[in-house]
Amino acid sequence: MSFLRLESLTKRFGSNTAVQDITLDIDQGEFVSLLGPSGCGKTTTLQMIAGFVEPTRGRILMKGEDITSCKPNQRGIGIVFQSYALFPHMTVAENVRFGLEMRKVSAGESRQQVSEALELVRLDHLEDRYPRELSGGQRQRVALARALVIRPPLLLLDEPLSNLDAQLRENMQIELRNIQQQVGTTTLMVTHDQSEALSLSDRVVVMNQGKVVQVDEPFAAYENPRDNFVSSFVGKTNLFDCHIDQREGRQAHVKLGDCRLEIAVPDEIKGNKVQLSIRPEKLALTQHMAGQLQGRVRTRLFLGNHWLYQVDSSAGELLITQPNLGSQGAAVGDDVGICWQDGAVRVLGEQANG
Ligand code: ATP
Repeated sequence: MSFLRLESLTKRFGSNTAVQDITLDIDQGEFVSLLGPSGCGKTTTLQMIAGFVEPTRGRILMKGEDITSCKPNQRGIGIVFQSYALFPHMTVAENVRFGLEMRKVSAGESRQQVSEALELVRLDHLEDRYPRELSGGQRQRVALARALVIRPPLLLLDEPLSNLDAQLRENMQIELRNIQQQVGTTTLMVTHDQSEALSLSDRVVVMNQGKVVQVDEPFAAYENPRDNFVSSFVGKTNLFDCHIDQREGRQAHVKLGDCRLEIAVPDEIKGNKVQLSIRPEKLALTQHMAGQLQGRVRTRLFLGNHWLYQVDSSAGELLITQPNLGSQGAAVGDDVGICWQDGAVRVLGEQANG
């Protein structure tokens, strides 16, 4: 039995279907992210689980028990909002203690649990400060301590790191992952940031237009995207529309710019139109050789650990990343060859989902 089960969960606002028929099982202790573009229904899904939004259809089960009609405070779920929602007139310790007071935990026990929660997020030295006296990262950690202090069986995080600057965000990602592993709380996070979802989660649930498109471990979602939407939303990719010239079983030939490729077409793709997806880091710039894709460097950006190239090729515009190995590579205006290793080309069906 899964720890949390969403069964055909659907939410309509008037004629707009925000969430459509989501069925999902989450195991105890798992860290799962709902990942998708703005408006795809992530927050609505989270709010149905929290009990703030009533589903139009479907059920929510926690440890097999139907909680669909339980009030939010009966569900015992910990929540961290994007805005943190700290009480400005309460100190750090008072903010964290609040949930325990609501649950009528004794003063002695409460003191112990608040101090453990603050230690967990490394804020025990700031317990007498007010939220206005804290940095963004510290406020975020107070919100996390406040959610965790009640020892919730389930933790919901709604874009918890989106108010932090890039550097702090990265540090907090590591910290959040460590804390979650330490306490082992089953966690469901909403984010539109693919790198956050990939780095933190045991599994990612990719959503588009109210529906679940793919559920997978981060590496699998990145390496084996189910369609062109996942391929371009989870990481960057180069997509090419191609026509199959010749096909024998799974083996097929397509033309990509000025070169011909042999590809393996998945059985479920029946027509003779396919899309090829090639990740920027799986392409390499070389001296041009006959039979190879060729292009000219239009732009080059130095990003510290790698270079990002925009190359005009006979197959169209390409994004290519090259690791910085300590020497200058191809420059703007250079004619280049473009190559890739076996397995770099992912063959997708024709559908255009987004
Ligand atoms: P974001 O990343 O921008 O927060 P999201 O993926 O979380 O987006 P939701 O907030 O769940 O998306 O919204 C899904 C859809 O439902 C959107 O079209 C939104 O406009 C609509 N919606 C959400 N809440 C309501 C509401 N209370 N009344 C009417 N429509 C709503």
